Amino acid sequence: MVKVVIAKGENIKFRTKKSLEDIGGVNKVVGKGDKVFIKPNIVDGAPFITGEVVQLETIEVLVKESFNAGASEVLIGETPTYRKPTETIISYMRLAKETGAKFLELNNYPFTEVNVENPCFFNKVRLSSLLLESDVFINVPTLKTHLSCGVTLAIKNMYGLISPEDRILYHSINRVEEAIVDLYKARRADLIVVDGTYTTLHLGARPLEDFKETFRLNLTIAGFDPVAVETISAKILGVDPSSLRYLKWAEEDGLGTMDLNRIEILGVPFEEAYFGKAVDIVKYINNRMENLRIINFGACTGCLQMPTSIMRMSRILQSASKDKRIICVIGPKIKVDELKKSLRGNEIIILCGYCAAPTFYNELDGHFVPGCPPQPEDLQRKIREALKL
Ligand code: SF4
Repeated sequence: MVKVVIAKGENIKFRTKKSLEDIGGVNKVVGKGDKVFIKPNIVDGAPFITGEVVQLETIEVLVKESFNAGASEVLIGETPTYRKPTETIISYMRLAKETGAKFLELNNYPFTEVNVENPCFFNKVRLSSLLLESDVFINVPTLKTHLSCGVTLAIKNMYGLISPEDRILYHSINRVEEAIVDLYKARRADLIVVDGTYTTLHLGARPLEDFKETFRLNLTIAGFDPVAVETISAKILGVDPSSLRYLKWAEEDGLGTMDLNRIEILGVPFEEAYFGKAVDIVKYINNRMENLRIINFGACTGCLQMPTSIMRMSRILQSASKDKRIICVIGPKIKVDELKKSLRGNEIIILCGYCAAPTFYNELDGHFVPGCPPQPEDLQRKIREALKL
């Protein structure tokens, strides 16, 4: 059985320590003289209460426990997306100084090319040399939903260990899910500690008042198997793990298990940790955009990336379709009767992806964007055509 620990409680330090105890202690992975690399998710250096960044107390516990276990050096590293240090980043720097660790912005150090065995897509990837030179890697993500990967946890956290150029490359060729699996294979974490003090939808830097999707959960989830940890974390949020393409690829490629019969939950029972109301990109768009509605019938992250490409057209949509609503339908389990009930009669219906093809050909008038996954440019083109722009 693969073990995943769930700890719950308001006190972050106490909760993090409890999760480490329940998983067997940091000394299970850290030995005398080891150089330990801790990778928190601190993305844009957003304020702690947004839920975007790992809470300082979680890292403090990990640094101290690593030194207690005999570490000779502890590095806290991230490739920043912020332009200048925020209050959050300054707090991280201060913590590192006070605890004897080092806080490092990885873009100031070299990256090394690594061969990927049995790659999902990329034969070679580049990772921070500081990570590769370390003896122990502790991967510390936050518990968040994500606009293109569905969730962002330990596997997506690898994105903060690559160069800014590679980030742009993977985004530009639309291969982020493939890249994160290959990056994980290139350097697997020895321990994963998910900071679930909060959850939010990761959308990047935005004003504090825009974080309407942030909820306090007071959770820590820990384990060694990234697929198992992410399966349980996704389920806690109310995200179906089988909709996450990257997680299925990770399982197929031997990074771990999604099989609940093979996962033993220690600590707090799943039911006590379950939240189920995390806001994904579909809910976000439906809550915030008046003339665009996404109807999801069980789509995977291939099609779940489509709404973001329409969101980028929001200005055009607002000015062009005041009296029209765009309905974008995705997923393999389309229920036409249910769908028709939600129509007002002023909609342009776009059926997206091959899963929606039988509905388009047999049951419902609309526009069809082929592909598995469909291409964002094709969807945008179809919307322009439909709106006669
Ligand atoms: S069409 Fe492909 S990408 Fe879209 S939901 Fe179906 S399987 Fe996923």
